[in-house]
Amino acid sequence: MSGKQISLLAVSVLLISCLVLPAACAHSRQPARTAADLLITGAKIVDGAGNPWYLGDVAVADGRILAVRAQLDIPAADTIDALGLVLSPGFIDIHNHCDSGIRHNPDATNFVRQGVTTLIGGADGGSAVDMGAYLAGLDTLPLAPNVCFTVGQGSVRREVMGLDDRAPTAEELQRMKQLVGQAMRDGAVGISTGLKYVPGAYSGTEEVIELAKVAAAYGGYYTSHLREEGPGLIEAVAEAIRIADEAGIPVNLTHHKAVGKLMWGRSVTTLAMLDSARARGLDITADQYPYPATSTGLRVLFPPWSMAGGTDSLYARLDNPVQKEKIAGAIAFALTNDRGGDDPQNVTIASCAHDHSLEGKNLRQILEERGIEQTIENTAELVISLVLKGGASCVYHCLNEDDVARIMSHPAVMHASDGTVMEFGKGVPHPRSYGTFPRVLGHYVRELGVISLEDAVRKMTSLPAQRAGLLDRGIIRPGAAADLTLFDPERIIDKATFEKPHQYPVGIERVIVGGRTVFDGNKMTGERPGRVLRRTDRPVGLL
Ligand SMILES: [Zn+2]
Repeated sequence: MSGKQISLLAVSVLLISCLVLPAACAHSRQPARTAADLLITGAKIVDGAGNPWYLGDVAVADGRILAVRAQLDIPAADTIDALGLVLSPGFIDIHNHCDSGIRHNPDATNFVRQGVTTLIGGADGGSAVDMGAYLAGLDTLPLAPNVCFTVGQGSVRREVMGLDDRAPTAEELQRMKQLVGQAMRDGAVGISTGLKYVPGAYSGTEEVIELAKVAAAYGGYYTSHLREEGPGLIEAVAEAIRIADEAGIPVNLTHHKAVGKLMWGRSVTTLAMLDSARARGLDITADQYPYPATSTGLRVLFPPWSMAGGTDSLYARLDNPVQKEKIAGAIAFALTNDRGGDDPQNVTIASCAHDHSLEGKNLRQILEERGIEQTIENTAELVISLVLKGGASCVYHCLNEDDVARIMSHPAVMHASDGTVMEFGKGVPHPRSYGTFPRVLGHYVRELGVISLEDAVRKMTSLPAQRAGLLDRGIIRPGAAADLTLFDPERIIDKATFEKPHQYPVGIERVIVGGRTVFDGNKMTGERPGRVLRRTDRPVGLL
């Protein structure tokens, strides 16, 4: 019997019993004012606020949560029996790179099938500069999840200054401030930086503070891929804290980690810095993906100065033996002490447009195949030759599980994927794009007990909602947006591995966006109720 039939039957039984036994129906004399579109019954409700689960029913109408209570007595067009399942707010992924992929795959299947209902893009300093035009374009696309964006400082700088490695002039700084202000007025929820990347790496702290002040004036937050995550991490955390202080802006340390063996264990220090900053009244949070490996382009191994002026300038420097030696030395240092993880085996090619046969292979295998001796210098040469041919994106096995668990356990740390909208089957990408949220709930909550179920849900719902100012979602309360995820806490787990990443998780039973089911437990439904969320939207007050 379908849910619809069940609820019709329930209504008829109710009507008949009211006719026959009026006294028995005292509580239903005043019928519900509004019929619900959807009624989810008997769920273990994990409300997103971190409270212990409780048993209840949730009614949804017009895209919002209408009522929450045990034994709700509301006629509904559709009913889901959620006995034994957890109903939580839909997951909000506060750090990902959905910006271009969402336009080609508006279902964002790899995210939705993890239970994600809202994607916050514009990460690491990269976004559309004309936020108004970009969001207006997305408005015309039917989307499965909701999306919103931070404006990227790197993109703004590139627009005004190209890839120049210098401080801005007064006029250039003014122009960048105008662009950030316009993006905020157009609906960006904050500003992001990628100070490890070009051209963010060319920005001094004062420049970043000036731009962060503009975002702060509009109620936005600042989220940063720190200037360094390996050697230099502590100084980079201190820089972010200074930006919070001097710009007067909430700060998020994104995909927080300690890269490279030299830095393993230093999350003790960085989390203590976060705590002491909070103790003096600075609003600082962090997010994290639940894996001991990172992923980004090969150029992350290059010193920023070598990329000033763009690719042609980089190639010219590599043509100059003296400069090439300096670049190779810096790459060797990064391979040993930073993202390279001190072994060419720790760097795996995720995607490589100029040679797809390299995808899935690590640098050691590639050296072996080419009959080249395994030395750090030869690995640096290989990296340079790959970049000269067009580059590649890689997975870097350079983190430590103790740091992953320690960072995850901190109350001000959220879960976020750092992933992207996937083309199923293409390349050998980091599994985070398919597995982040189910991995937290299955591996770190159920199998390892690192954090509780309720805390994990809080860190993927109300906490990111609070950070991004999306206060009418990320929580199960009457009046909140009906973005909901139903999952089996005993079964949920990620399936994507580093070797075979293109695998969807199991245990996600239903994903609902704005009251409509986008994933039914087996397949995407084709519904596309997702909306572009703007900072300028007025949140509907909770009832
Ligand atoms: Zn990043």
